[in-house]
Amino acid sequence: MLLSSILALLNLTAPVASAADIDWNVAGDEAVGVLSRYLQVDTVNPDGHEDRAVEFLGAILDKEGIPWTEYTFRSGRSSLVARLKGTGQEAPICLVNHTDVVPSEPKFWPADAPPLGGVIKDGEVWGRGALDMKGMGILELQTLIELKRQGVPLKRDVIFVAVGDEEVDSGGMRDLVDHHWADIGCSQSVNEGGIGLKDLLFPNQTLYGVSVAEKGIAWVKMTATGPAGHGSRPDPVQAPHVLARAAWALEQYKPSIHWHWSLMELFKNVGTTQKGITRLVLSSPGLTKLALKARLTTNPATRAVMINTINLTNFAGGSSPNVVPTEASATLDCRLLPGTTPDQMMATLRTLVPDPAIRFELLQGRDANESPTDDSLYKALSTWAVTDATGAVRKDAVAGPVLSPGFTDSLLLRPLGVHAYGFVPFEVTLDDAGTMHGHNERVSIDNVRNGLRILYSAILDVSHA
Ligand SMILES: [Zn+2]
Repeated sequence: MLLSSILALLNLTAPVASAADIDWNVAGDEAVGVLSRYLQVDTVNPDGHEDRAVEFLGAILDKEGIPWTEYTFRSGRSSLVARLKGTGQEAPICLVNHTDVVPSEPKFWPADAPPLGGVIKDGEVWGRGALDMKGMGILELQTLIELKRQGVPLKRDVIFVAVGDEEVDSGGMRDLVDHHWADIGCSQSVNEGGIGLKDLLFPNQTLYGVSVAEKGIAWVKMTATGPAGHGSRPDPVQAPHVLARAAWALEQYKPSIHWHWSLMELFKNVGTTQKGITRLVLSSPGLTKLALKARLTTNPATRAVMINTINLTNFAGGSSPNVVPTEASATLDCRLLPGTTPDQMMATLRTLVPDPAIRFELLQGRDANESPTDDSLYKALSTWAVTDATGAVRKDAVAGPVLSPGFTDSLLLRPLGVHAYGFVPFEVTLDDAGTMHGHNERVSIDNVRNGLRILYSAILDVSHA
């Protein structure tokens, strides 16, 4: 008997379940229902109470017969890790999401769609976390569930990692990384980060950014010291005056412009969707820099991914209008490009402010980090991102790598050797994206249906046996 016949008898050549086997309207609508209920679970951070999310997600996983573990990092605060077992031929892949959400101001939301309502109206699911990031969390959950239901043979464990306290202190992820990493040990992860933005560079084109890198941080306290005294007798050596001059000196910071490789690769990809002179310019790194430098460096959003930034975010000190304090301080939020360490930023601050009456104290520092685009998960995410409901490649969409000026929990995973990517497969306008941490956060039903198809297809590609 031929080998293929033997394998067929053993059912080892059964075709892998493909994304086309699933009715995404049905699967998407199920996800919409789950998301609506999940948005009603109050995990506003502070104080988080993410154990409520663990209970909610755990009950669904129990029903599907998928095992999970709760990791408590503080009272009332925990994370959930669920696992579909594979053969172990490859290291696990993690689907990462955070279960906490930021506070809202209900008076700015529609009366019939409050932040914790999870209301479905006009084809959209409304609620805090719809985009950041309970929506993505449910796409990950339903991906796990569909893999199980379809009976997909897996060459690696697929692990669903729902952590608490991302929005304030990364407490949930720090707990997993510091104390439970041996239970997880994935080599790749997908988490929040890039998203599909309509009309971002060209009208009628959606740009899907996949975050491959995140800036690091140096959070610094800058303190001025001087003689105390009476408010009626100003003296330039008094602490508040010293601090004001230091703040002004920081305003004069002229950082050098860096073209991160992700930016160049992104523009190259965009160029392939264009014609004529635009295509020519974007295909050449030199011409791209020449043509876009002014535009990119004057827009605060794009400028932030090209320079190290120093942002003065707070002043403190003083007790009464007529009392000169001995000390006055300011807080600096410095964001660092890959290649700049917190120590190097501290040295830059000292150069900008040589005054010995000023001292700098590093409150928290983390290096930037990045993951390569020559990676199977990156390729699967960026390939499926630009497909339509039939699986065909769209002409009105393009995907590429992005450097994120803010950081997510992925920043904690990359030092462990994880190739970590940030990608939420929703397609939104810039205004929609602004509702994250703002008012009227919501996601369309179409986005949930299509996003689930994209994520499932990408994860299937990199995990089936
Ligand atoms: Zn988030």
